[in-house]
Amino acid sequence: MKAIMYHYICPPPVDRPYATHLSSDNFCKQLDYFKQTDRFIASDEFDDIINSRIPVPDDGIVLTFDDGLKDHSQFVFPELLKRGLWGFFFVPTAIFTGSGLLAVHRIHYLLGRYGGSAIMEKMIGDEYLAPFLEKPSKFYQTTYRYQDNDEATVAVKRILNYVAPPFVRDAWLTKIMLELCDENQIKKDYYFTKEDMISMHAAGMIIGGHTVAHPVLGNLCLDEQRREIEDSLACLRGILGEKSVESFSFPYGRKATYTDETLQLLKDAECRYSFAVEHRNITAEDISNNILALPRWDCNQFSYGQLVK
Ligand SMILES: [Zn+2]
Repeated sequence: MKAIMYHYICPPPVDRPYATHLSSDNFCKQLDYFKQTDRFIASDEFDDIINSRIPVPDDGIVLTFDDGLKDHSQFVFPELLKRGLWGFFFVPTAIFTGSGLLAVHRIHYLLGRYGGSAIMEKMIGDEYLAPFLEKPSKFYQTTYRYQDNDEATVAVKRILNYVAPPFVRDAWLTKIMLELCDENQIKKDYYFTKEDMISMHAAGMIIGGHTVAHPVLGNLCLDEQRREIEDSLACLRGILGEKSVESFSFPYGRKATYTDETLQLLKDAECRYSFAVEHRNITAEDISNNILALPRWDCNQFSYGQLVK
């Protein structure tokens, strides 16, 4: 059985010329393609598979959408309804409680609007961030005219998501967002609302946890990890009902982004299953022994799933 992971799905965003996304046309084409190659399974069938009541179907497929994006309520949800399909929607709860964008999306927004080279120039100019720029590299020399935006984009993401301490990164992001854009307005267009989520849930979509603030869980101490997991599940259960939220997906999701402690914390929080990012099918072995880190394919591994600018 395949689980497919999606993020941004939209028509080209007018204010973000450098943003990568899956076009809404290609999303529809990919659903048509999967209809030919696989079989969309019903949510109660998925539940039977997870509970080992029936075998894992080789040709089964489920769809997952991370991050609580407005794209998902505005475009994906109606498209799934039209086709009689359903999906998992994994929601970082700070989109309801926080004042601005999550750090991960501030980074996406800035890169999408201004491009990697321009953002790297800004980072080089900041005295607190400067020590975390990995020298020597062509990106960190102020005199260099960046030709390759994609390479600069990768470097920006690496430094801000993994290298700089979160408090340094967040202080810089707050400063730069204030300088360059109206974050409150952007937030309204970026995420779905509680009301959107309630409607989606009522129509058969499955809502799952995705932490509060979208950190790399594996970088946190045990108490911080516990807070991210327990608080996010409590928030969603408070909105949708105690028994309604039993799944989770790890932010970023690859092996190093979570630990054995993460899995134990999920178990303690009565999370029944969880998704990681690993490009392979879910097997019977995963259902028996790996239910809290089920593998998930990225949509770009299949026809029509390539991201565009
Ligand atoms: Zn995410």
